[in-house]
Amino acid sequence: MIKFLDLHTLNARFETEFQEVFKKFLDSGYYVLGNNVRSFEKSYAEYCDTNYCVGVSNGLDALILILEAYKVLGKLQEGDEVIVPANTYIASILGITKAGLKPVLVEPDLNTFNIDPTKIEAAITPKTKAILVVHLYGQLVEMTTIYEIAKKHNLLLMEDAAQAHGAKNANDKKAGNLSDAAGFSFYPTKNLGALGEAGAVTTNDEKLAEIITKLRNYGSSSKYVNQYKGVNNRLDEIQAAFLNVKLPHVDADNEIRRQIAKRYINEINNPILILPNYKNDDSHVFHQFVVRTENRNKLQVYLTENNIGTLIHYETPPHKQEAYKEWNQRSFPITEKIHVECLSLPINPILKTAEIDEIITVLNKYS
Ligand SMILES: *Cc1c(COP(=O)(O)O)cnc(C)c1O
Repeated sequence: MIKFLDLHTLNARFETEFQEVFKKFLDSGYYVLGNNVRSFEKSYAEYCDTNYCVGVSNGLDALILILEAYKVLGKLQEGDEVIVPANTYIASILGITKAGLKPVLVEPDLNTFNIDPTKIEAAITPKTKAILVVHLYGQLVEMTTIYEIAKKHNLLLMEDAAQAHGAKNANDKKAGNLSDAAGFSFYPTKNLGALGEAGAVTTNDEKLAEIITKLRNYGSSSKYVNQYKGVNNRLDEIQAAFLNVKLPHVDADNEIRRQIAKRYINEINNPILILPNYKNDDSHVFHQFVVRTENRNKLQVYLTENNIGTLIHYETPPHKQEAYKEWNQRSFPITEKIHVECLSLPINPILKTAEIDEIITVLNKYS
């Protein structure tokens, strides 16, 4: 069986280093907001080339904290509208809702799966205060038009970069440094994954970073002094230690993902399958390799019968979820088409050459 993703094998590569950092951590007796968190924040800010990185509990909390910090700064208010792609993972939208703001869904471009910049302006109202782009499946959003729109309408611009660690544009600017503030997740399956829950915010805005640093820790500026009604959204110390081990390897891992994607694109030649667009550059880190086909469920059954694991990202779009009952009657045809037709093939740094060969052969025999 070719697993879709084997988390144990993925992390076994770092077993010795994990054990070393765990021993140090245990012996230190310092288990919350210590040197590991501080050094990870410094390294990850350097990696993204941003002035600040604040480690937080997970990707969803990263998004909520950005929005809450803008409320503290008076740049957002309860009920303001935030534009977000309709086909994103639901966490992007839940973050907006949880911060007391109103998500406004915009259709994606079928060719990139990312928000369609030409459809943003029609969604802007006097209440619109921000755009949250999502670099879905690891592919950077084409930002040029979006920068113009944000500037023209005086909107905040944020990235959900949970799937795009290390993706960079033609000017070598990375995900996390393409907007006012970005949320990252280090959930174990992400391109940079912890061994549990973890996340971060990156930004060049000193004030915003300072407020988020306090909000994540009970709104506290120093011990038992509470400036804001904060939360406990700290990045766990041991997860930061594990992330410090893995961060130096993320670029090499992303390069392997791209090499696999290139093989799929060059060698899968089955007209029944629509392969993702790829510009052959570093703007895509292939968190997922998503193909489309009319009879997706049939393809998934066929691959399972041939011992190839796949997943669907995602089966039900946010506006059709019970959680957003108020949207269930609305229609987003492109989003719905993607959700019916998409299937994610295995793509990860531990896939063996023989497994890639097998996946290509099996897909080329599919009819
Ligand atoms: C994983 C993910 C999140 C949420 O991250 P968690 O760490 O699971 O909270 C948010 N947005 C996107 C696009 C994601 O893929």
